[in-house]
Amino acid sequence: MATLRFFALKELLNRKPKYIDELGKLTSDYFGKYVFDKGKMKKYLSKEAFEHVMEAIEKGSRIDRKMADQIALGMKAWAIENGATHYTHWFHPLTDATAEKHDAFIDIDSNGGVVEGFSGKLLVQQEPDASSFPSGGIRNTFEARGYTAWDVSSPAFIVGTTLCLPTIFVSYTGEALDYKMPLLKALAAVDKAAVDVCQYFDKNVTKVSSNLGWEQEYFLVDEALYMARPDLMLTDRTLMGHSSSKDQQLEDHYFSSIPERVIAYMEDFEREAYLLGIPLKTRHNEVAPNQFEVAPIFEEANLANDHNQLVMDVMKKVARKHHFRVLFHEKPYKGVNGSGKHNNWSLSTDTGVNLLSPGKNPRTNMQFLTFLLNVMKAVHTHQDLLLASIMTASNSHRLGANEAPPSIISIFLGHELNRVLDELEESVPDKKMTPDQKTSIKLNIGKIPEILLDNTDRNRTSPFAFTGNRFEYRAVGSSANCASALIVLNTVVAQQLKDFKQEVDALIERGAKKDEAILQTLKKYIKETKNIRFDGNGYSQEWVEEAARRGLSNVSSVPEALSAYLSKKAVKVFSDNDVFNQTELEARVEVELEKFTKKIQIEARVLGDISINHIVPTGVAYMNTLIKNVQGLKDVFGEGEDFQELVGDRLELIRKISDHIHQIKVKTTEMVNERKVANKEEDMHKMAELYCNKVRPYLEDVRYHIDKLELIVDNEMWPLPKYRELLFAR
Ligand code: ADP
Ligand code: MG
Repeated sequence: MATLRFFALKELLNRKPKYIDELGKLTSDYFGKYVFDKGKMKKYLSKEAFEHVMEAIEKGSRIDRKMADQIALGMKAWAIENGATHYTHWFHPLTDATAEKHDAFIDIDSNGGVVEGFSGKLLVQQEPDASSFPSGGIRNTFEARGYTAWDVSSPAFIVGTTLCLPTIFVSYTGEALDYKMPLLKALAAVDKAAVDVCQYFDKNVTKVSSNLGWEQEYFLVDEALYMARPDLMLTDRTLMGHSSSKDQQLEDHYFSSIPERVIAYMEDFEREAYLLGIPLKTRHNEVAPNQFEVAPIFEEANLANDHNQLVMDVMKKVARKHHFRVLFHEKPYKGVNGSGKHNNWSLSTDTGVNLLSPGKNPRTNMQFLTFLLNVMKAVHTHQDLLLASIMTASNSHRLGANEAPPSIISIFLGHELNRVLDELEESVPDKKMTPDQKTSIKLNIGKIPEILLDNTDRNRTSPFAFTGNRFEYRAVGSSANCASALIVLNTVVAQQLKDFKQEVDALIERGAKKDEAILQTLKKYIKETKNIRFDGNGYSQEWVEEAARRGLSNVSSVPEALSAYLSKKAVKVFSDNDVFNQTELEARVEVELEKFTKKIQIEARVLGDISINHIVPTGVAYMNTLIKNVQGLKDVFGEGEDFQELVGDRLELIRKISDHIHQIKVKTTEMVNERKVANKEEDMHKMAELYCNKVRPYLEDVRYHIDKLELIVDNEMWPLPKYRELLFAR
């Protein structure tokens, strides 16, 4: 019996690295070639139109219709010169991918001829028939109109022959149906709140930007093997597979030399990314075999997130050229590391200051401590929201499952910074400060950069770590749209900065000096956030127990985590900062619950199919060869006294196989029944709970028996590529 697995393995013997021809050119020669950036706008737009766009980008003002026509004209000219024939509004619906609907530039002119047309109206706004995108009930299908509107702050780009315009996606009644619109709102909220707080330290600050540097982890798998694994094809992860005798124990993959076929792939997608103006900087092997990472230089958060989504798309496309498939799933393989997407996040001013970087004197350092502690306080107050923002069916395999970080949000500061905060807490008196005390505190604060330099120790197990000049939100999943985490982070920080300002102003009103008021408030925050500071091993059982004693939240169920979005506190913080209204929050939770449910549903179906169509028949076939063998031996030797001894091991094996097959069938049937019960549930939250608690556990139960069978059954007969092949073949 020749299985697909062996065809796939044979295919692999002929694989060669596929190098691209155009290497050798300087990256800077072609970087951003397909982006309608400032330089190109200047060239292709009238002065008036150019200034109009710049103002819209910088001040958030509206593009007026007349100008839009002019801009469209210039943009079209550039796009056509670069081979574009179509255009699309490119947006981030609440699915796992970006969306696009292409329209040709063609128009019929007054003489009935075909011309290349593209008007300002089409540039600025579109109404795609978007009734199939998730909306959580905001758009009834009879009122399917949602519209997309151009986000001027992220430049247009060309992919293939299509001009892509980054856009937001909203319902006809104005509610957000995507990730971009709330992200832009959260960024505006943090901008305003941070500028206000900056005024204590520097009156020249008029704008604060949020920055994102993502680190994207991914797995590569050969496409032939991928095709022979229905679970990978349909769910992006392996639903079965016994661990390989060797996987990551020796840690010999991490940072080792990159395999040739993989390097060729990386160079290819990096080149595509450079053409699109995405500043990719770092590439390396990750901890698990066949796991890799790519990271750019950080950018303004909205742009950086567009770039992340775009690069994921590019990586998927280019992978096919190299006979690879790229897996962004958080846990494609059991027992080896999963994939995350660290979100390196900071705030910076238009005066060129990174607010999360210690400065050079007491004043800038006080500003640094202010922002550091406000972020900590925001994370402390809204830990449940931060968790909700990253909890999905796939990421929950990383969070709260074994061999993974727990679903507890804690903050790593490192030894030195912890000491700084402890000292500050000690040194600031509760009553009025003497001039001597003030001087000494300021002196100490002034010394921070010297201490921190080279002292930003690392802790890979912390979900939210301070790393010298930024926070790294590490719990974000590799398949996520970073916006989900960034919306929450920027909103809660915005709110916290407003609260801070109010507290400080109140103290000043009561007669405190500004510095004193700030220090008193920071001291209070140090006390209040103490329990979220943790520098130890975040993956350990001790931490789970310790965190419970500290009263930190630890929720590993996805539906439960998502319900945090609907708490009174959450509704208030989102609506006060004009990011989400209650309807939008309810819709979003509904969409997330539905996504979660559907994913488990698909996994359960796929597992059922593979069990019954692939695994059980294979087990039976192998069992039959054993039975034949026993029968043959009986014919040869007769059923004498030592016959039992002769075939005892095979009888034992037959019994074992039979038992596993039986269990697979029984458990698969039970799983189907639980699904039927769950599908009858009308309340989305309850249905998700049922899928989480009643259906999902069967995935592991069934898998257990399949993985045991894999160890027993003749290797030649096993139909699915094994872990050793998926993880090491390349
Ligand atoms: P690591 O040592 O964690 O791998 P890197 O130095 O490779 O970190 O940086 C990871 C990411 O963090 C990169 O995208 C980098 O541009 C980004 N980064 C660095 N400084 C900042 C900052 N101040 N704000 C946001 N992102 C930053
Ligand atoms: Mg990092």
